[in-house]
Amino acid sequence: MNQSTPEQPADVVSRLRATFRSGRTKPVEWRTAQLNGLREMLTSHGDDIAAALHADLGKSSTEAFRTEIDFVIREIDHTLEHLDEWLRPEPAPVPAYVGDDATAWTQYDPLGVVLVIAPWNYPVQLLLTPVLGALAAGNAVVAKPSELAPATSGVLTRLLPQYLDTDAVAVVEGGVPETTALLAEHFDYIFYTGNGTVGRIVLRAAAEHLTPVALELGGKSPAFVDRGADLSVVADRLARGKFLNAGQTCVAPDYVLTDPETARALEPELARAVEERFGAEPRTSTEYGRIINERHFDRLASLLDSGRLVTGGGTDRATKYIAPTVLADVDPKAPVMQEEIFGPILPIVTVPDLDGAIGFINDRDKPLALYVFTESDTTRERLAAETSSGGLGFGLPLAHLTVSDLPFGGVGESGMGNYHGRYSIETFSHRKAVLQKPLG
Ligand code: NAD
Repeated sequence: MNQSTPEQPADVVSRLRATFRSGRTKPVEWRTAQLNGLREMLTSHGDDIAAALHADLGKSSTEAFRTEIDFVIREIDHTLEHLDEWLRPEPAPVPAYVGDDATAWTQYDPLGVVLVIAPWNYPVQLLLTPVLGALAAGNAVVAKPSELAPATSGVLTRLLPQYLDTDAVAVVEGGVPETTALLAEHFDYIFYTGNGTVGRIVLRAAAEHLTPVALELGGKSPAFVDRGADLSVVADRLARGKFLNAGQTCVAPDYVLTDPETARALEPELARAVEERFGAEPRTSTEYGRIINERHFDRLASLLDSGRLVTGGGTDRATKYIAPTVLADVDPKAPVMQEEIFGPILPIVTVPDLDGAIGFINDRDKPLALYVFTESDTTRERLAAETSSGGLGFGLPLAHLTVSDLPFGGVGESGMGNYHGRYSIETFSHRKAVLQKPLG
């Protein structure tokens, strides 16, 4: 590869396709070597990566390791432990009319060259988790980090080629022009994480080549708080899930949905929980992050007067700081309720009762996650049966995404396709049907 002129997208894809066709990526030994390489990179350079995450998002080192670096390491270990078992062909019963000497099974075939396009909010986790899944499934991969997290994009672009087979894995940095050029190429799968507007661009580009896609999108994930729930626990868990990464988490609780009486009792509990977590002055807390850029800062600052201030509200544009903020008495028509917030603002919206909450949720786009805080089995059962969301969390936001044995993905406006653990193998493979009947 000539280092002085960047390789053109068409050349990158044909180089990787040649490697894939050679069969090099298929043996399980090659796959596990890539996963071990990735693991080695993360363990040897954890501090460099954490420093980049701090530069891009003000992420504390604890948060960087917990939600990004160690998250990916756990996913690698889980995959290494189970890969042989996941790849095993699965026998299928054969109907009598085909003959009792016939056998049938399914086998996982890698797809070819996969494009992974990642966003900026968890720029390590959301690039490397799909990349490792695609490699475990035996594919070649083009990885496109987000240009909005430039320090992380830079460190990964420098490190990945040192630890992975560069004939099968390429990192292409850049923004809209570079991604547009990549999308014009023929990939065998496109895995996109980000917003729905770009998701539609990706889907249109993929249609040209009949390329299958996963779209990992976002949306407004509600948190329903039932009458009688322990509000001190609820507030602690909501504050933890909402204000992680300054609210820039795709599965963060977007807003609270509850009855008016519970809302009033929850308000002081949320104020207390925020103060316990980040102190009376969160801007001085080393654990509290910053907004990614001025555009998102301005967007979020304009939402702060969408309701009555319970706590927070402070901002500092120079450091892209927005205080962890809770707003009460929020009208469903207020600006903060129109789009995914994707920042540290938690509105409380009231509904009369459970029926009102179910109606409210079903009147809107299917969310990436729904969280429910209740002691009632009936409430749990009704919300599980009568609403649709990418994931459903009873009593604890965010945690379902850390369970490698659960598929992670959206539905409707929150996306299509899923991954993590064995679901990544399903996503990045073709499950081929095979039938065999002896000639004799
Ligand atoms: P972003 O701006 O970093 O964009 C994502 C990727 O799309 C980047 O790599 C970017 O270069 C590329 N891109 C941007 N514009 C493009 C264009 N016109 N054509 C082609 N490619 C383009 O990230 P974002 O979209 O701001 O991310 C935030 C959104 O992502 C939120 O809605 C959030 O909920 C969602 N999200 C979802 C998940 C999930 O797993 N479901 C995870 C994180 C974020």
